Amino acid sequence: MEWFASMPKVELHAHLNGSIRDSTLLELARVLGEKGVIVFTDVEHVIMKSDRSLHEVFKLFDLIHVLTTDHATVTRITQEVVEDFASENIVYLELRTTPKRNESIGMSKRSYMDAVVEGLRAVSAVDVDFASRSTDVRRPVNTKNMNDACNGTRGKKIYVRLLLSIDRRETTEAAMETVKLALEMRDLGVVGIDLSGNPTKGEWTTFLPALKFAREQGLQITLHCGEIPNKEEIQSMLDFLPQRIGHACCFEEEEWRKLKSSKIPVEICLTSNIRTETISSLDIHHFVDLYKAQHPLVLCTDDSGVFSTSVSREYDLAASAFSLGRREMFQLAKSAVKFIFANGRVKEDLKEIFDLAEKKLD
Ligand code: 5GP
Repeated sequence: MEWFASMPKVELHAHLNGSIRDSTLLELARVLGEKGVIVFTDVEHVIMKSDRSLHEVFKLFDLIHVLTTDHATVTRITQEVVEDFASENIVYLELRTTPKRNESIGMSKRSYMDAVVEGLRAVSAVDVDFASRSTDVRRPVNTKNMNDACNGTRGKKIYVRLLLSIDRRETTEAAMETVKLALEMRDLGVVGIDLSGNPTKGEWTTFLPALKFAREQGLQITLHCGEIPNKEEIQSMLDFLPQRIGHACCFEEEEWRKLKSSKIPVEICLTSNIRTETISSLDIHHFVDLYKAQHPLVLCTDDSGVFSTSVSREYDLAASAFSLGRREMFQLAKSAVKFIFANGRVKEDLKEIFDLAEKKLD
């Protein structure tokens, strides 16, 4: 585990509100309990429960959103989540979140996202590079910092880019509003759109106009795809040719063929799939087949808080479950740089970071 923590890694599938520390959630719940908004003892065991069905996970998200939906808290959790990923040597993080409106506290989708950006600015434990267009000029990678980053000590740097999520409960208009917001916030590090939320809700055709518009405008797209069996939707999603998909659990032969020929990279979230029982055991996880087929893959956490995991743990788990050595795991981490949504300058920097770290492998 320590070895995986010390190597550089990228995280491409992390939901902000799913990545909150348990200690922070409990503290927020306690405060709301004292104010009489919730009953703390009812909520405490829900937060601490470790095995949850997919259905229960979405109930938990509704609770988390009650705890986190004010600007100051959104800023705080963003700061903590970035610091937590940086502490395990994530050198590039694509953080996704669903912009939320809450008129009772004067929150618009834009002000929610401004609070997220404020959280990126508030990080002090590590140097955060989050603005995309304004920093297109390539700067040399500070090798001293990188050495430190790989040793888990001072001088760390993390690139953070944002994806705005469309929740499957949203209407076409609400989805379009999120895409327009993403375009407005490109200079603040927004690079793409994610489609997520309870897979039993909503229809693909509802989101399609917004996703098409996002693509026309040059935003990159990743879709939660195949979390439950839904052949028609999975096929439509693959035909759309998103830049990446998440999960890909409930595919049949025909969808596997389509996926492999399209070479769409898959964000694999092992612990999440097992905890939500989307996949019954790691022995039959599609990672093995896709890895053997050299299909583009990236290991991710999904919701490090909700599933009590970390990127290093996911690497450790994959290495032991699939009998892969350190070198193979390092190459897997390095190959993920090809699938990031940030611009070429960031890719070049990351390649340099991984090349430096590779020279030090034993
Ligand atoms: P947020 O967007 O509020 O920062 O992060 C939590 C939200 O991400 C959830 O309400 C849900 O919409 C989405 N999400 C988190 N984990 C999953 C997952 O495993 N599958 C799907 N489909 N959506 C998820």
